Amino acid sequence: MIEIKDLHKSYKMGENSLHVLKGINFSVEEGELVAIMGSSGSGKSTLLNILGMLDEADEGSYTLDGVPIKNLNEKLAAQYRNKFLGFIFQSFNLINYKSALDNVALPLYYQGMKRSERMVRSMAYLEKVGLADWASHKPNELSGGQKQRVAIARALASDPKVLLADELTGALDSTTSYEIMDLIQKINDEGRTILIVTHEEDIAQMTKRIVNLKDGVIIDDKKINQVRAIQNV
Ligand code: ATP
Ligand code: MG
Repeated sequence: MIEIKDLHKSYKMGENSLHVLKGINFSVEEGELVAIMGSSGSGKSTLLNILGMLDEADEGSYTLDGVPIKNLNEKLAAQYRNKFLGFIFQSFNLINYKSALDNVALPLYYQGMKRSERMVRSMAYLEKVGLADWASHKPNELSGGQKQRVAIARALASDPKVLLADELTGALDSTTSYEIMDLIQKINDEGRTILIVTHEEDIAQMTKRIVNLKDGVIIDDKKINQVRAIQNV
């Protein structure tokens, strides 16, 4: 599904440059649930943004679902990103003046789906995340966990092959975090490939594989026995 080879990324800092990723190699098969860990500043978000085609590497190759990303022009890259990738963020990134339903439907609007189909599909995904009764509510009427559920429904609505989440439980208390991870595990059980960035060890233990970043390289990459999140709720 995902294959990266010898990936490098530096940020320009005036005269200097900061070499953040120094030769990353790894691949992810369809159906995996992977946690990317590492201390603050180790390059987790940088790597996730490159995997999500929100940023580009300076060197190295990235193949997504058999297609080398470098070969795509801007328009094709955008189409590819919409079709293959769904994003979830720590701060939810919902639009405050739109209802939960409209937040889920918005990316589908940009993809050109007609209104009736958008609404049916968005409602189905709100139901999936347990928020059918909250469809007409705006984000400021929802709890943090509910907001993240809306964001997950929004990410899923385009039926992406891969979900990418950066600190998706970072703004939530531990019980709510485990509820969100229970949902993530269920979505993964259905076969969806998911990568999460987290600095919380207990959250990482709820995935199936932990990749550790340090000083710009992967220092550890191991399959683990998944802890079911619902045990903790
Ligand atoms: P955290 O756990 O704090 O979120 P992280 O592992 O996600 O950290 P990154 O956000 O990938 O780390 O940042 C890696 C390094 O690159 C940091 O030193 C950061 O300051 C720097 N950096 C990130 N984005 C940029 C940018 N756009 N321009 C310049 N430097 C950046
Ligand atoms: Mg980060």
